[in-house]
Amino acid sequence: MRWKGRRQSDNVEDMRGSSGGGFGRGMPGGLGRNPIRIPMGGRAGGGGLSTIIILVVLFFALRACGIDPLQILAGGNGGQVGVPGGGGQVTQGQPRASDEMTQFVSTVLAETEDVWNGIFQAEGLKYEEPQLVLFAGQVKSACGFASSASGPFYCPGDRKVYLDTSFFDQLDRQFGASGDFAQAYVIAHEVGHHIQNLTGILPKFNQMRQQMSEAEANQMSMRVELQADCFAGVWGHYTAQKGLLEQGDVEEALNAAQQIGDDTLQKRMQGYVVPESFNHGTSEQRQKWFAAGLQSGKLSSCDTFNNPI
Ligand SMILES: [Zn+2]
Repeated sequence: MRWKGRRQSDNVEDMRGSSGGGFGRGMPGGLGRNPIRIPMGGRAGGGGLSTIIILVVLFFALRACGIDPLQILAGGNGGQVGVPGGGGQVTQGQPRASDEMTQFVSTVLAETEDVWNGIFQAEGLKYEEPQLVLFAGQVKSACGFASSASGPFYCPGDRKVYLDTSFFDQLDRQFGASGDFAQAYVIAHEVGHHIQNLTGILPKFNQMRQQMSEAEANQMSMRVELQADCFAGVWGHYTAQKGLLEQGDVEEALNAAQQIGDDTLQKRMQGYVVPESFNHGTSEQRQKWFAAGLQSGKLSSCDTFNNPI
């Protein structure tokens, strides 16, 4: 990805110098309150259950909240929206962060801001930019304490993306997903959850899953996650339009989507798959939805709630 020299976001909080809070023990289940995570391992769940009724309820509920999910998902002008500043020109940012990783993360976040500001603007909406917290070891969020083992996540409670700086190493070495655009995809996916938070999809899901069985919640979670993948793809579409993608970048993101698919992860971690426990989508589904957003650049192609996934 051609990211060097471009604008870096002001919305990065570097917490790596701080201790992250005064708790000494490891904290299984420390992340309690609805964080939206990258899967780091599989857990067996119960049986499958139809979510069709739930999804219909979800969509009507969103409308009742004054948020029109269809309008948001469909986009104006047939869904094709322009991104201001997307002419391929390089905005000379002031490099503030000293290490290259922080510069990269800040630049990718800035690129997501530019794209989503443009998309929201085209809809007559205002995009509220999320913060991104870089941490090392452990961190306290509005969703509870998290450690590196939690993987990157988005916390709707404080509207922040949390990223442990060691995750990209892990992505490369443990998951076999290398390359800067694989990393950019992870960031864009978490920002995708922020979009879902702003549009009311995430709050509704988190409210509804209190009443769901684990299997039902997993089913719904997959649709939420695949939509975040699709939103990451939409971002990728405009990033490509700006001429920022290099040869192999799309393949890096698709490979990352492949490597962190539920089935691939479970096979690697436990040697077998438990489809009922899938909550992010299979490798094939994750690639499919990222590609859908990437190819069209339209939010209307990301309706994972009303289409077969
Ligand atoms: Zn996610």
